[in-house]
Amino acid sequence: MNESAPLWRKKIALVAHDNKKRDLVAWAKFNHDLLAQHELYATGTTGNLLEEELELTVTKLQSGPLGGDQQIGAKIAEGEIDFLIFFWDPLEPLPHDPDVKALLRIAVVWNIPVACNRTSADYIISSPLMNEPYERILPDYAAHLKRPIAANKETT
Ligand code: PGA
Repeated sequence: MNESAPLWRKKIALVAHDNKKRDLVAWAKFNHDLLAQHELYATGTTGNLLEEELELTVTKLQSGPLGGDQQIGAKIAEGEIDFLIFFWDPLEPLPHDPDVKALLRIAVVWNIPVACNRTSADYIISSPLMNEPYERILPDYAAHLKRPIAANKETT
């Protein structure tokens, strides 16, 4: 986000599996003016489609199966994403299923709102909180970070 960006402006990550890309593009077109107020990130192919069809600027990461999901996960862990829209495909196994699970998991770890279908995306994008600064409550992981670790025992 640049220095002069308003405090309420959100960083939104968008990801859609191939069978869900049309759905995401249709949703994004419908919400074009709302999305244009925020900063957009996407996995590679999803991002290209959104740029072509919506003429919005999108920061594009790697394609999902090539590490894009993990890049978005890393951004979430670094506090750089406020809202994840992830239209994953519930009917197809994919080679990067572990990355899908990891991305959904890390969004929960860092208390990020996630929309996995159009209805949830509609509810979130139309929330008054989209246009207000919002301080996300960060879970307290102190106990996890300070947990005792048993010393390595030599195995014979
Ligand atoms: P893509 O990745 O936008 O590059 O297709 C999406 C995904 O499958 O995670």
